[in-house]
Amino acid sequence: MSVVTHWINNKLYPGTSGNTAPVTNPATGEVTRHVALAGSEDARAAIDAAVAAFPAWRDTSLAKRTAVVFTFRELLNACKEELAAIITAEHGKVLSDALGEVSRGQEVVELACGITHLLKGGATENASTNVDVHSIRQPVGPVGIISPFNFPAMVPMWFFPVAIATGNTVILKPSEKDPSAANWIAELWAEAGLPAGVFNVLHGDKIAVDELLTNPAIKAISFVGSTSVAQYVYATGTAHGKRVQALGGAKNHAVVLPDADLDSTADAMVNAGFGSAGERCMAISAVVAIGGIADDLVVKIKDRARTLRIGDGTKKADMGPLISRAHRDKVASYIDAAEADGAAVVLDGRTVRADGDQNGFWLGPTLIDHVHAGMSVYTDEIFGPILSVLRVDSYDDALELVNSNPYGNGAAIFTNDGGAARRFQTEVEVGMVGINVPIPVPTAYYSFGGWNNSLFGDTHAHGTEGVHFFTRGKVVTSRWLDPSHGGINLGFPQND
Ligand code: NAD
Repeated sequence: MSVVTHWINNKLYPGTSGNTAPVTNPATGEVTRHVALAGSEDARAAIDAAVAAFPAWRDTSLAKRTAVVFTFRELLNACKEELAAIITAEHGKVLSDALGEVSRGQEVVELACGITHLLKGGATENASTNVDVHSIRQPVGPVGIISPFNFPAMVPMWFFPVAIATGNTVILKPSEKDPSAANWIAELWAEAGLPAGVFNVLHGDKIAVDELLTNPAIKAISFVGSTSVAQYVYATGTAHGKRVQALGGAKNHAVVLPDADLDSTADAMVNAGFGSAGERCMAISAVVAIGGIADDLVVKIKDRARTLRIGDGTKKADMGPLISRAHRDKVASYIDAAEADGAAVVLDGRTVRADGDQNGFWLGPTLIDHVHAGMSVYTDEIFGPILSVLRVDSYDDALELVNSNPYGNGAAIFTNDGGAARRFQTEVEVGMVGINVPIPVPTAYYSFGGWNNSLFGDTHAHGTEGVHFFTRGKVVTSRWLDPSHGGINLGFPQND
């Protein structure tokens, strides 16, 4: 059976640890290949490559760097169906969704094609007599990107196009659950003309991550994954002197006001709750229904959700399997817990009949009504196709519920009242807000990131914040024309 190996210096690198992990097709339950798990020595080989490549890539002109990024964009755009098929085979999401993920990642590549504009510094003439000041931003050095299973292409693409275009070298440590997308991307970079060592892929688990977090040659870490690991990555990386942005888990709410259009809101809840089987960090998992609309809304969501086709993502399904058997069983256990806690299971995914192999990791869309804030189905990030409905009396109760939640990735409001929507955008404590938009993932030229336990660090991904993260500022003060500076004077420099 084939082994997905590391990619270092534009070549496959088998590694020396001898350790591997199985990679499974979630739609069949079958192990289709293995992935190499790096030991510390393998991680250092990747780091050495990124360190060696850094000076020449940093010094490569912006014109030449962006030419490579443009070529990468063209190649990606021409064959993105191939990448989508790889994602579906290892993640399980349906092909159209996989293609959507690639397209959203491609937006960041397109942002990076215009890096020349984003890297422009400022200049001030004659700040003091004959003294000019200008600012520049320079790459930080070799950087590590550690990504989760649920977006094997898009999440790495939130970071590496900007990191590479701004002159850094990269080591991507993808999820060991769906590792092949990263190697496909690496080969595309090589085809686009990226020099050896600028983009490397290191497969593995905590051992690989720990080397990236502690090795002094790595200057910055972009992490996306669960909150507990994000906290660990942030604490360890910053303790070792690195800048770190660590994006964590989520529990996203949709607040539905009594004046909302219930049909389009129900559509949105189904799309955002069950797309990608709920394995999205921006999935809606809690619907907060205000006032007397809950009964109607629950019926409308149920009527739509029960029509979804669950099955193999390569066929005509709306929703694919979950990532692993263990995860499917864990998600299903939250339905048992909600029942035991007294909530009402309105649509039960445990009884799903999927159009796919009987060994696939299936769980159907599940709608649970009368959920209360203390129940585990509400307190925990479930990361599966379970939509909980909480009923509250007022906007203030809804806001308090959302703002009391420890996560703060995204939240949406559904209403026809512009004033209420405006209040919500001001008062809600999350990083990304949707107004009649259930999954408010910012476009590439804005930045993606949550608040509270959904992000550790102060910089969001891509957009101007991403450019800032991967560069360091420098300010140059120069005196020409009259090089004299008034002779000996030990006083603090004054502008005159
Ligand atoms: P995960 O935390 O298990 O793994 C993420 C990465 O960390 C992987 O590369 C993994 O190999 C590595 N890792 C796992 N355990 C580790 C450890 N103990 N020490 C060091 N490294 C470790 O996350 P996942 O299950 O792959 O992805 C799902 C999670 O990611 C969910 O919580 C989801 O909300 C979150 N997520 C968040 C965002 C966001 O933007 N905030 C986006 C996508 C996913």
